[in-house]
Amino acid sequence: MTKNFFFLILLSVSAGIFGCQSENTTPQKNNIHLNTNADVESVLSILYQQQAAEYRALCFQAYNIARQRIVDAKNNRNYKGKKFAVITDLDETALDNSASNAWLYLNDSTVNFPFLLQWWLKGVADSVPGSVSFFKYAYEQGIDIYYISNRADSDIVVRSTIRNMHNLGFPFTDDTDTNHFLFLKSGGSSSKKLRREKIEKIDSVLVFLGDNLIDLDSAFDGQPIDVRRKEVDRLKTKWGMNYIVFPNSIYGDWESKLYPPGLTKRQKDSLRASILRNVN
Ligand SMILES: [Mg+2]
Repeated sequence: MTKNFFFLILLSVSAGIFGCQSENTTPQKNNIHLNTNADVESVLSILYQQQAAEYRALCFQAYNIARQRIVDAKNNRNYKGKKFAVITDLDETALDNSASNAWLYLNDSTVNFPFLLQWWLKGVADSVPGSVSFFKYAYEQGIDIYYISNRADSDIVVRSTIRNMHNLGFPFTDDTDTNHFLFLKSGGSSSKKLRREKIEKIDSVLVFLGDNLIDLDSAFDGQPIDVRRKEVDRLKTKWGMNYIVFPNSIYGDWESKLYPPGLTKRQKDSLRASILRNVN
């Protein structure tokens, strides 16, 4: 997508999606009774990500496992192969965007591309617990790091993301490090397979990190919910080894794959209830 396209989108978005937060000192949470558009089911997931000590523990656990994979690899003194690398997703793996989901909930809104674009350009996502120290450690150990994300591959989005991550302390986030950021090209596939393979040609990838299984293995690309579960079982020896999964109950294929396209909110409610495993 071109820069011009992005600026047109920006102009078409009402003056500052996030503007009312700074202009209105009354917390928007006073208005949650207006929730008719928001994904109201997301509120517990948002609170889990922002408040649960268990969420933090899971993230540290995931990054501790990833760190151990690096330790193991560096301990193999006989290794003469390609340079080691780590491939990671960004959102809800390295970057915590839960504040944007909270904004949507409190402002009775749902996610769409103009909203995401404004959020990315704002560049104020938080870091996932343990992420910055892990990537700093990997960097100090001479490991290549590649950030493979389905954020839009436009210059302004990449640079806003780099600025956001640089402020948080992530390595490979200087202006000259854009080759470490493999984002979703306009008209390109949301599958990360080719982008992973591009890195695997030049480096030996120690671990893949992600909150959505498509971040880790193409076996999950475009698959329905039952196939996703079967593939997880088939790949059971990889979890916690070179595939490291992060918790994200706010959004992801785990939820979007529940529904056929085009369902109303009410139809989604009914479908969710109908597929619950109940007492026999
Ligand atoms: Mg993600």
